[in-house]
Amino acid sequence: MVSAIIEKTMIIKYFILFLAKQIKRFLQLLNLSGGTAFPGLLVEKMYPQILDDIAMNFSKKIILISGTNGKTSTTNTLVNIFENSEISVISNYSGSNLKRGVISAYLDSLNNFGQFIGQNSVMVLEIDEGVLPQISEKIKPDTIILLNLFRDQLDRYGEIENIRNTWINTLAKDMFINSKLIVNADDFLLSDIADSFQGEVLHFGIDDQLLSEKKENRITEVSYCYCGNKIIHSVRYYDHIGKWQCSVCENKRKTPDVLATNISLSNNGIKFNLISNKDSRFFVASSLGLFSVYNTVAAFAALIKLGLDTEQISQAFDANHQIFGRQEIFDINDRKINLFLVKNPAGLNQVIDSLIHEQHQKINLLFALNSRIEDGKDVSWIYDADFESLALNIGNLVVSGERRHDLALRFTIAGVNNFDIQENIKKSLSSIISKSEQGSNIYLLLTYSAMMDYRKYIAKISGSKPFWHKLTNE
Ligand SMILES: [Zn+2]
Repeated sequence: MVSAIIEKTMIIKYFILFLAKQIKRFLQLLNLSGGTAFPGLLVEKMYPQILDDIAMNFSKKIILISGTNGKTSTTNTLVNIFENSEISVISNYSGSNLKRGVISAYLDSLNNFGQFIGQNSVMVLEIDEGVLPQISEKIKPDTIILLNLFRDQLDRYGEIENIRNTWINTLAKDMFINSKLIVNADDFLLSDIADSFQGEVLHFGIDDQLLSEKKENRITEVSYCYCGNKIIHSVRYYDHIGKWQCSVCENKRKTPDVLATNISLSNNGIKFNLISNKDSRFFVASSLGLFSVYNTVAAFAALIKLGLDTEQISQAFDANHQIFGRQEIFDINDRKINLFLVKNPAGLNQVIDSLIHEQHQKINLLFALNSRIEDGKDVSWIYDADFESLALNIGNLVVSGERRHDLALRFTIAGVNNFDIQENIKKSLSSIISKSEQGSNIYLLLTYSAMMDYRKYIAKISGSKPFWHKLTNE
């Protein structure tokens, strides 16, 4: 009787997995969202125990990446390095970072009959901050990378204090005693999470006095230690990230185990020296901005903890370093279209800095702001970002997206008088292309849903494959 029930449950399970796999393949054939979220959602609803299967099948081979900014680029860096080292990877490409995205990624490790064939693969998953506790408790990762915490999409999760508290409560549990935590030493909001973690902790960070933030007007979102006293920074790289210590108690930044020094930032990319306790090595990458240095160092720190040395990392990195980094570049009408995801003040300020860094020409800019659930309904964060620095460097500007009028007002307040407001993707792109010179760079700043829509449209008209095809080689 019992065995008959088990058998029936197994048949239902394999049927659900078979169905989900076929749907995923079908959606990918149609180029729909890379076939990411829906098949996962289907399995989540019909067979919620799937997360136990993931934990069992991938035991000790799961890396989770979370934090407000940089998840996708850190994930892609790790995936690329594994692939260049000929290690097979299962990942939630395209940033579908809720439970359904994780399940959908897992489908790639099953054959058409729902049987697990990913014995030789590692799983690298970016995880939304809000669901990190729930997912990490279920799938028991070997490694968790925490990048940073900034104010983001407040309407979805409430204050970042809530996220921080759930992270502390979950990650302090005994069940993680055999896991590793790779954490940003320069973000003091992560320090008590690291302190209460039971397993091994490895800190990464940046040591470069010359990069100290010079713009004091930029907001520091949270500046108090858990003892209630002020946090002070001897060096502040951006926002609340830097070399910090409490003005009263003993709480202070831990010395990073893996760190970047001698950093150089330019329009062509980043250069830095990576120092670990074993050795040091110089790296060059085409991604832009200080945040890219953090993302790259976070990925390298995880790899070092997993047993790779900087020589191996360097070889895998050099093999294909042009595909690293957050921003993608497309050619349209002899213009270079550069795409940047923006979603909160700290991240946008970093993008602004990398655009105006050593920039001698005025910038051609298209900014599209949406306010769907995945972008965050509240767009007031644009008032906390440094549009004023951007305004000084703008040549041509087009604003678009559902909240284009909010953007128009923000740019006007920042001092830009001459710009174009366009209601859709096609018109906004033709407008900025017609204003800019041949051979020039055009920068697109896009919120999450705008990024998905523009990327799809641009891939179509430029004849490039959508990015999930590039990543999965399909
Ligand atoms: Zn304190």
